[in-house]
Amino acid sequence: MPTIEELKLKAQAAIDERSDWLVDISKTILDNPEPGFHEFKTAALVSERLSELGVGHQTGIALTGIKGVLAGGRPGPTVAVIGELDSLRVLDHAHADPETGAAHACGHHCQIGMMMGAAVGLMAPEVLDSLAGNVALIAVPAEEFIDVQYRWNLHKEGKLGLMAGKQEFIRLGAFDDVDMAMMVHTASTNERTKFAIGGTSNGHVVKYIRFVGKAAHAGGSPELGVNALQAAMVALNALNSQRETLRNEDTIRLHGILTHGGVAVNSIPADVRYEGRVRGRSAEVIADANMKMDRCMRAGALAMGATVEIVSIPGYLPMVNNDDLMDVFKANAEDLVGEREVGVHPPNLNRGGSTDMGDLSQIMPVVHPYTRAATGTGHGTDYVIQDYEQAVINPAKAMAMSVIDLLYGDAERAKQTLDNSPPNMSKGQYLALQDSRLVEEVYVGE
Ligand SMILES: [Zn+2]
Ligand SMILES: [Zn+2]
Repeated sequence: MPTIEELKLKAQAAIDERSDWLVDISKTILDNPEPGFHEFKTAALVSERLSELGVGHQTGIALTGIKGVLAGGRPGPTVAVIGELDSLRVLDHAHADPETGAAHACGHHCQIGMMMGAAVGLMAPEVLDSLAGNVALIAVPAEEFIDVQYRWNLHKEGKLGLMAGKQEFIRLGAFDDVDMAMMVHTASTNERTKFAIGGTSNGHVVKYIRFVGKAAHAGGSPELGVNALQAAMVALNALNSQRETLRNEDTIRLHGILTHGGVAVNSIPADVRYEGRVRGRSAEVIADANMKMDRCMRAGALAMGATVEIVSIPGYLPMVNNDDLMDVFKANAEDLVGEREVGVHPPNLNRGGSTDMGDLSQIMPVVHPYTRAATGTGHGTDYVIQDYEQAVINPAKAMAMSVIDLLYGDAERAKQTLDNSPPNMSKGQYLALQDSRLVEEVYVGE
């Protein structure tokens, strides 16, 4: 059997040989951005390219998701390599779709290139035969938790259970045969090194809120109406008044957007909608902040005599990077870019944002490193990938090499990782927890 080092060289050479093909996949997705649960063209492209490689796969998981499997030479654990299909919506982004405002302002288009690249590397001659276990290639929808009303409607129509891609993959059983998972996210100049590993992320609750008032002539008889927009404004001011009750170390974020503010200027707004987010670093502090958010929403309704419908949707759980997987990834990243270009963040460094990789991290070992390849601000108009070698090719190599380390021989490294890291909760406990976080309330302010 070839040595680990020989296999890694074969994998790297195969990725280099297909580098233009891989970067082309990412750039094609960049130019065709689609937000979560709308990734139809993106999924079709992934499916087509997997077929071109000869990888059998399922499509349409959680509406647009894809899962392919590469079988190793002998039975063993399954490692998932994940790429996210979805874009954001950022108007005026350099690569925004002018009709939908969709834009890859978070670099997910590179993740698909990376995932395909890892597949190409692992399919190099002799590699899979030397591994014990399988590799799941997972192109997952909807990581950015946006378009909340759309997802809530899909949920009510029975088309979605949980309302984000990895969450729904877990619920549907698409991770049942997966033992551990990895993905790499692009980063901008906020990272000092080419690769960065470690740290955590906020968990969150997603809010879909509707203030209901009563229409009346806004000039002739406003006193006969109930102004839902004023109710929302009182609620949002109340929310801002909570700031001094929030501790810095809990990294609470209370934020949102008004998605519907009324229908006609001369009629008192009777239907006003707000999509919001409550983030924090632990379940306890999120629950506390969420209680404050609800209190503020009720306060707005009470002040104006309006009604408020509050839907709390199970959001993401805080992320835990697995120590063993970090070690494996770090060593391979160092091989590629040198020790000085691989940073390790302290375990308590919290990025403020959230990801459903956090949910997965509660039920299996995962690693979610960053690769510095962009300039501009994440989720901003100026977030643009500059270095496709570091955005696609190097992360693909690092993941392929890490899979080789984990599954080589009898997959000792993967088995050791599993032995060292019992999950925080079972899938059943996870689903019960998320179920309990879905709460609908109607409050009548009178
Ligand atoms: Zn993002
Ligand atoms: Zn992202």
